[in-house]
Amino acid sequence: MSANNTKLGIVYHKDYLIHTQGHHPERKERLEHITSALENRGISEKLTMIDPVPASVDDIALVHDSGYIKTIEEACNSGQRNLDMDTYIVPESYRVALLSAGGVLTGLRGVMGIGPDIVFALNRPPGHHAERSRAMGFCLFNNIAIAAEVAKRDYGLKRIAVVDWDVHHGNGTQHAFEDDPEVLFISTHQSPAYPGTGHLKEVGRGTGEGLTVNIPMPPGSGDIEYGLIFDQVIIPVLDQFQPELLLISSGHDAYRHDPLAGMSLTHQGFYDMADKLRQAAEKHCQGRVLLCLEGGYHLEGQAGAVIQVLNAMGNFGLPVTERSPDLDPTRHAQARLEEVLQVQRKYWSL
Ligand SMILES: [Zn+2]
Repeated sequence: MSANNTKLGIVYHKDYLIHTQGHHPERKERLEHITSALENRGISEKLTMIDPVPASVDDIALVHDSGYIKTIEEACNSGQRNLDMDTYIVPESYRVALLSAGGVLTGLRGVMGIGPDIVFALNRPPGHHAERSRAMGFCLFNNIAIAAEVAKRDYGLKRIAVVDWDVHHGNGTQHAFEDDPEVLFISTHQSPAYPGTGHLKEVGRGTGEGLTVNIPMPPGSGDIEYGLIFDQVIIPVLDQFQPELLLISSGHDAYRHDPLAGMSLTHQGFYDMADKLRQAAEKHCQGRVLLCLEGGYHLEGQAGAVIQVLNAMGNFGLPVTERSPDLDPTRHAQARLEEVLQVQRKYWSL
């Protein structure tokens, strides 16, 4: 219980609730459950609250085509309701999307400046599926990719690690940095599942070859399997890459009851992943971690997962109320781990 109360910050704005549509899984209630859980579990007073500043169009254009940015603005202004089958907009969505990306950037300025070492942006809409010129999978602008680009532009960072533990592959983020030697992208995701990318043999290309680490995991994978992947792949890769900043695409849809996926992570599993990454950040980048919200559609489950991620990041010592039984990893998961190791041993000592 050695919590330094100023160490951990969260970014939040009530306007993040404006972008919402009925019973769509990516709706405002996701965030409302998280903020009430923060109150109920008594965590709020341990956190520094940070108000987001909207991103500029120039910031967004580091990752997205300017024509695409304009299209989103015009679609929202025109009252259009959907960008594709999955991705809705409301008239205010463009402004909220700038505030969502801006929330992650405001968090970045805190982490890189005199703010808390660790910031979790509780922002919406999410971003990791958004491609350079295409909205996808509930995402308009790729918030975390924009943050990585701004970290390079404004702070001159040369080694940025992005870990994406959302249950879906972060296709937009991978594509933004596939040939970039300064950004390491590591994704755990259910396979097969939406969006179908993130094959283990997608390893980056050109000067970025070896800096895309895809870890597709069989449905049903839980705390034990994720623990194995973190211990045998993700942490050793981070130890060798030695990031100057750690970014986390924190989706919570690998939670065991998530309605859009089929994984088995419990709150203990989320605590463990966050704890391992916090320790890696302390070792390599003065504890600097910036997390942003991606998916997670079981309202109570996701809120509990966020609490445990903050618990681990802030070293608060709160009890973890849910854990999986101590089983051995499934044979299927072990076989997949071997395949990942085989591919990645070309680039890392594993
Ligand atoms: Zn997801």
